[in-house]
Amino acid sequence: GGTGFVGRALTQLLRSRGHEVTHVSRQGGKDRISWEELSQSGLPLCDAVVNLAGENVLNPFRRWSDAFCREVISSRVETTKTLAKAIADAEQPPRAWVLVTGVGYYRPSPTAEYTEDSPGGDFDFFSRLVSSWEAAALIPGSPARGVVVRSGVVLGRDGGAISQMLWPFRLGLGGPLGSGLQPFPWIHIRDLAGIVCHALESECLQGVLNGVSPSSPATSNGTFAQELAAALGRPALLPVPAWAVRAIFGAERAVMLLEGQRVVPKHTLESGYHFIFPDLSGALKDIVA
Ligand code: NDP
Repeated sequence: GGTGFVGRALTQLLRSRGHEVTHVSRQGGKDRISWEELSQSGLPLCDAVVNLAGENVLNPFRRWSDAFCREVISSRVETTKTLAKAIADAEQPPRAWVLVTGVGYYRPSPTAEYTEDSPGGDFDFFSRLVSSWEAAALIPGSPARGVVVRSGVVLGRDGGAISQMLWPFRLGLGGPLGSGLQPFPWIHIRDLAGIVCHALESECLQGVLNGVSPSSPATSNGTFAQELAAALGRPALLPVPAWAVRAIFGAERAVMLLEGQRVVPKHTLESGYHFIFPDLSGALKDIVA
C-alpha cells in the first residue's frame, strides 16, 4: 500500500528520517517488489513491515456488488496474511509489524465514546472486516512487535475523502451529510503517518492505537462541513440528504458517511505521541492552503 494516499505520506516521512523504504505493489517500479516475489522469495531483510494495502471502499465509481465486496475484503485480509506468513517464515524477522485498519471496528453511536479497550468488531460488514483483517495479522510466538492503528477518516491534500469533497465545497455547494449530527472521526494525514512512524521507532510499543485526533470525539459531520467551508471562505448551506448518499454509495457504504463513532486516541496519547494537528480548523487550513 506504499503507493497509496497514506503510503506516499508515510514513505516521505520515513525517508526524511533516514529509513530505506521498499514497497510491495501490484505495479513494478524502482524500490518495489511484487506480491508474487514476496510469496516466492520471502521477505527482503528489513527492520519493519507496514500494511496499507486495500481497495478503496468509498470509490463512487464502483457499485457495491458481491465481486467488489470480495475485493474489498481480500485486498486487506489476503495481503495481511501474505505479509504475516512472510514475517513468520523469515530467518531474520523484522522487529515491528504495523497494520492500519479502521474505526469501523466500533459500533456507530451518537453518544458512546470508544477507546482502544472498547468492544466491537462483530455487528456489521465493516466491523467484521476489521476483525478478520486484524486477526490475519496475528503471528503467534513471533518476535516482531505487532501494532494495529485503527484510523478515522484521513484528511490530506492529495487523496482520501477531501479530494472528493473539495470541488463542491469550493463551488459553495458543500454541506453536511444527512442530519450532520453524526460523529466525524478524523485524523490529518501527517498525524497518521506520524503515528505509524512512532509505532515503528518506539521499541516497546505494541497493541492497538486509535488513529484519530484528540478533538475528533467532539467533531460532528456538520461541524466538519462548516469548518471546511470556512477554511475555503465559502458557505456550507446545502445539506446532502441521506437518500442521495445512499443512492450514490449503496446502503452498506452509506453507513460510513451517515453514521459515525466518537473515538478517543487514549493509548496513542499515553504512548507519548504528540499530535501535529489536534484541532480541525488548523488541520483544514493546512490542507486547503
Ligand atoms: P489507497 O486507496 O490510496 O490505496 C492503498 C494501496 O492499496 C494502493 O496504492 C494499492 O497499491 C493497494 N491496493 C488497492 N487495491 C488493491 C487490491 N485490490 N489488491 C491489492 N492491493 C490493492 O488507500 P489509503 O492510502 O487511503 O489507505 C491505506 C489503508 O488505510 C487502507 O487499507 C485503508 O482501508 C485504510 N484506511 C484509510 C482511511 C482513509 O480515510 N484513507 C481510513 C481508515 C483506514 P498498488 O497499486 O501499489 O498495489
